[in-house]
Amino acid sequence: MRAYSFLDVGFTYRSLKADLDAAYARVMDSGMYIGGAALDGFEAEFAAWCGAKYCVGLGNGLEALVLPLRARGIGPGDEVIVPAHTFIATWLAVAQTGATPVPVDADPLTMNIDLGKIEAAITDRTRAIMPVHLYGAPVQGEALRALCDARGLMLLEDAAQAHGAQDGNRRAGAIGHAAGFSFYPGKNLGAFGDGGALVTDDAELADKVRMLSNYGSRVKYQHDLAGGNSRLDPLQAAFLSVKLKHLEAWNARRQDIAAVYLNRLASTPDLRLPGVAPGTQSVWHLFVLRHPNREALRQALIEAGVPVALHYPIANHKSGAFAAEFGHLSFPVAEAICDTCLSLPIGPHLSLQDAEDIAGIVDQVTRSL
Ligand SMILES: *Cc1c(COP(=O)(O)O)cnc(C)c1O
Repeated sequence: MRAYSFLDVGFTYRSLKADLDAAYARVMDSGMYIGGAALDGFEAEFAAWCGAKYCVGLGNGLEALVLPLRARGIGPGDEVIVPAHTFIATWLAVAQTGATPVPVDADPLTMNIDLGKIEAAITDRTRAIMPVHLYGAPVQGEALRALCDARGLMLLEDAAQAHGAQDGNRRAGAIGHAAGFSFYPGKNLGAFGDGGALVTDDAELADKVRMLSNYGSRVKYQHDLAGGNSRLDPLQAAFLSVKLKHLEAWNARRQDIAAVYLNRLASTPDLRLPGVAPGTQSVWHLFVLRHPNREALRQALIEAGVPVALHYPIANHKSGAFAAEFGHLSFPVAEAICDTCLSLPIGPHLSLQDAEDIAGIVDQVTRSL
């Protein structure tokens, strides 16, 4: 039997080696290793690709969430609404500013933040709402944005898993007031190292985030803000420009694989398949199903040669980082997802035949539990 891998970050290098090596040589020859044409070029391309005006390259995805909050003056005493169920970076970004994350439970269909529970979580300290397009499935943004505009709140998308995901005809990055992206190697658009970006239509926000990422400076040795250092390397930007041209095709492959799984596993007993909100298009960063006896299924699939993973096994409010402050709270949907979730392999490194074969094994193994 063929050996499948869950994720293959080397796949994109092998498939685009000549172009990536040429991009490397261009940056190395340019003598510009911070900023410069490669970075400016990628920022313009990625903003346009998302359908937004500005992109600011940053050191990683976490910073792409922290800096827009800081730029808006959000800090101690303020609250930011976040999904209970997300990769922990969403919560950590809020905590880094000194503000308090206010978790809202997950929607059992999409596993994204439960839109119906957000309004009740707003207090007079709320400054921003940070939905996550988790697993590549976008949150429906229209009503949320109207709510934020009416209440004077920032709508900051955590788009780290959602490059190209669509709500109506808006891509992630153009759904809220601003969005943070990650280019961690395993993301749908990944660098060969760390990277991230802020995307927004707000010129003032983009300018301030850029300053915060560069020692609070617009002009060398003139420091108007107490900023830090969080920049996207031009080498990574050059690689990302090469890869961006293939992102639509890679996302389409993910969508085709997800369609195979959804179709072939539709009647497998006890499996709960991932749902996508009406009017949205997922880019399937992950394919996360649920099963009441997840551990048994996980073991059996590994033995049958299907690599699987857990996203995520421990609810954020129960993790060591947050248990002291949030451990007494209960988010039943998020907790149930953590206990039952199982991620199947998905990505452009897999063919549709691979997806058919994997789905066949998953169906058979699940039935034999
Ligand atoms: C990956 C990720 C981040 C953080 O990105 P890094 O580049 O690893 O810092 C933030 N939020 C979510 C939902 C992520 O998946």
